[in-house]
Amino acid sequence: MMGNKDYIGRITDFRKYLQKNDLAICAGVTDVKGDRSLRPSDPKQTHPDFHVRVVKKDDKGIIVRGAKIHITGASYCNEVFVVPCRSLSEADKDYAVAFALPVNTKGMTMICRPFKSQISALEFPNRRPVRVHTDAFIIFDDVFVPWERVFLCGESKFAATMVYNFALLHRRTGCSYRVPLSEQLVGAAAAIAEYNGIAQTPHVREKLTEW
Ligand SMILES: Cc1cc2nc3c(=O)[nH]c(=O)nc-3n(C[C@H](O)[C@H](O)[C@H](O)COP(=O)(O)OP(=O)(O)OC[C@H]3O[C@@H](n4cnc5c(N)ncnc54)[C@H](O)[C@@H]3O)c2cc1C
Repeated sequence: MMGNKDYIGRITDFRKYLQKNDLAICAGVTDVKGDRSLRPSDPKQTHPDFHVRVVKKDDKGIIVRGAKIHITGASYCNEVFVVPCRSLSEADKDYAVAFALPVNTKGMTMICRPFKSQISALEFPNRRPVRVHTDAFIIFDDVFVPWERVFLCGESKFAATMVYNFALLHRRTGCSYRVPLSEQLVGAAAAIAEYNGIAQTPHVREKLTEW
């Protein structure tokens, strides 16, 4: 519940809204970050907006500022779901923010880039000759988010949990569309186990099976 029981009701309502209206959402996770070795709130960061943050709160909602980058499909999804992209400390609490907004919300600008890639031998075969997507650099220029669309606000200790939950689901989708690559990796691991004479060792077999 991320320290606030209201979040349960809000996320349930949002999920039902998506289901009822059959809407598509994209994941706004990756911040532009600035110096990767510094925390978002570190005064040595040359700009405070390298990670999306809350700049104002009132009884109606919050105002957010910053940018997310490389967001797949943003320009043709209905909603963007924004979460932090890293673990955060108490000092970073303004950056501990998760919310969802329609992609045409006032103050949001998308700079889009089409990317086209040939389907490689490592991807699940299908009949399309190319895979085409557009990703977006999404700028949040003091954007208002109503409280009913806020799912984390200041609870920095839960930021990492959000990142991991997203990553776990995302890895699963990645594995599903990259079946041949997954098989190749499991095959390589099995061969390494065999070369080392440990292919029958229970914990090695268990890991290979889990993969
Ligand atoms: C095709 C594509 C689609 C994408 N779609 C989405 C999307 O839909 N939604 C979304 O949120 N993101 C998306 N991304 C972004 C992707 O999640 C990020 O590119 C990825 O998380 C890496 O972040 P970064 O580009 O900032 O690289 P960095 O984090 O800067 O990493 C670059 C290198 O530096 C290393 N590094 C980083 N920090 C440190 C450190 N502190 N110490 C030592 N080494 C470090 C990394 O290990 C890596 O080798 C997409 C990216 C691509 C390429």
